[in-house]
Order: sequence, then C-alpha cells, then structure tokens
Amino acid sequence: MIAANIQKINDEIGNKTKLIAISKTIPAELVLEAYKAGQRLFGENKVQELVAKQQLLPADIEWHLVGHLQSNKVKYIASFINMIHSVDSLKLLEEIDKEAKKNNRIINCLLQIFIAKEETKFGLDQAELIVLLNDPKFKEFKNVRICGLMGMASNTSNTAQVRAEFKGLNQLFNEIKNAYFLDQAYFKDRSMGMSSDYKIAVEEGSTLIRVGSLLFGERI
Ligand SMILES: *Cc1c(COP(=O)(O)O)cnc(C)c1O
Repeated sequence: MIAANIQKINDEIGNKTKLIAISKTIPAELVLEAYKAGQRLFGENKVQELVAKQQLLPADIEWHLVGHLQSNKVKYIASFINMIHSVDSLKLLEEIDKEAKKNNRIINCLLQIFIAKEETKFGLDQAELIVLLNDPKFKEFKNVRICGLMGMASNTSNTAQVRAEFKGLNQLFNEIKNAYFLDQAYFKDRSMGMSSDYKIAVEEGSTLIRVGSLLFGERI
C-alpha cells in the first residue's frame, strides 16, 4: 500500500520535485515500510517525536523538521537534522547557527513565509523577510545554509486561491533569489504542497512537497 502510494506520487511529480514523507503520529513500523519501499526523506513537526524516530530508524534517513521550532529545542536535533523548513525569526536562525557550529555541521534552512489567509499559520510576511535578510547579523552565520522558502496555503477547497498563494510564494522566491542569493546555487528550494494541494504546488514551481496522509492514511 505505502509503496504503491510513494510510487504513484513520484511518477506524478517528475524529477524536479522531491517527495518528503511526513510521518508525524505514524508508528515507526510504518515509517520503516516506506523506507523499505525506497523512501529516504522524512519529515516530522515535533522535536520530541523526531528525536525518538531518528533513534529507532535507519541512519541514512534524511530528516526534515517542518513544524514550528522553539529556540530552546534546537540543541536536540542539531546533530542530525538535514533541513529545518520552519525558520521564522533571526533569533531562531542564530540559535541554529550556534548549535550547528557546536556539532561541526552546516544545517540547511528554509525561511517560512506566511501565504495563507488564515490567522493560525506561522511564518514571516514579506516585510519581515526583508528585515531579516538585511540584518547585519545574517551575513555572519557560517553554519546555516538558506536553501529557499517554505509556505502553507490556506486550507480551502478554493483551488484558485491555493494556486494564487503558491504562485505568490514562487514569485517572492525569484525576487529574493535575484536580490540576495544570485551566486548561491543552493538557494533553490520552494517547499510547498501537502496531500490536498501538492499537484497545484508542483505546477507552481514546488521543489519539495510534504505529504503525509496520502501516503500513510488519515491520521487519527
Ligand atoms: C502535517 C503536515 C504536512 C502533511 O500534511 P498532509 O495533509 O497529511 O499531507 C505538511 N506540512 C506540514 C508543515 C505539516 O505539519
């Protein structure tokens, strides 16, 4: 089942977009089933659950944190995390840089942008993003690598709205790329699209989709 779901999505998204299997609340046995089907990129939204699964599961899994991260919890994941999708403040970035340095690592980060019409979604707005990128401290960070932007579209059946939100994020990505990261080949990612909207996201330039329930079944 899980293997077939992974296969189907990979066939649909083509080779410009990578599938991150979001395994939050899913027991390790089922995560392992996805691993055995060839899946290597997994994402969690809570630090505690991420750490527990990282310890149980094969070492060559590439772990992504996609949920809100508090600065005081960075230390628990700094030794192994591949990418943090939810960076939404300079303070958090500073902490990630510090903990990455302690571990002699460079941690890939995405800046999370608020694109939805809802009040509840985390992320920076455009003005806050510019302030962050222009902060003198930002250039001093040596142990974080800003790889692109992440955003969550509104939870709505209005596909035109969802598409407009993804389109806006992709446009912002291009502007920021040109203004701040033109020489940085690693600034290339747009993490957008979940089970309900990944097809639209891929059409609008997503390079990383974060899919949970469509792979593993509805969470209870
Ligand atoms: C849970 C979650 C997903 C996956 O959601 P599905 O609808 O199950 O695909 C993607 N991104 C984030 C940030 C999440 O918390």
